[in-house]
Amino acid sequence: MRLILIGPPGVGKGTVSALLQQRLGLITLSSGEIFRREIEAETDLGRLAQRYIQHGELVPNGVTIEMMAKRLRDPAVVRHGFVLDGFPRTVKQAEALDEILFNHGIDLDKAVSMEVPEDIVVARLSGRIGCTKCGAIYNSASHPPKREGICDVCNSPLFVRDDDKPETVRERIRSFWTNTAPVIEYYESTGSLMRVDASKDPESTYAAITAA
Ligand SMILES: [Zn+2]
Repeated sequence: MRLILIGPPGVGKGTVSALLQQRLGLITLSSGEIFRREIEAETDLGRLAQRYIQHGELVPNGVTIEMMAKRLRDPAVVRHGFVLDGFPRTVKQAEALDEILFNHGIDLDKAVSMEVPEDIVVARLSGRIGCTKCGAIYNSASHPPKREGICDVCNSPLFVRDDDKPETVRERIRSFWTNTAPVIEYYESTGSLMRVDASKDPESTYAAITAA
């Protein structure tokens, strides 16, 4: 199976792609994972990407796409199939991806738009509390620590990260829609789009995807 997961931060893409990986053996591909691989392998592309990241700049589209093309040709990825998480983010990247897949004779099965009302996402994300010492993440609603405000792992005090404050969460969601809504329209026009209600648990999202 070859899938793309599209959805705002907090929609559960990570959890669903982990299920697809565990149960169907699909390989999860994201720009972050691809950057790390190339940087660790100290390839020319990796060194190039690292230079941008070190300066706090975005890795240019061309570099990201070249890395993605390389990864999609990887025999393990060809054999097991893949789930793309967080890529493509723009129509330009979607078109480049289509070209790569076409050139390698690979068909995309579905681009899955995971849809959730904004308030649910904000509630999910802004309930997140983290430990600054060991990095453990909790959620005041779905996964609270045993003692309020204290990390189960290392007993340090827990904090709401700046990224997870409600106003920042809304801002992140807004910026997602500005940049990525055209990607959803793009896949609608190519006939690959599938919309999934992701407001329930990850298991129902997983079931909807595999049933289709
Ligand atoms: Zn801790």
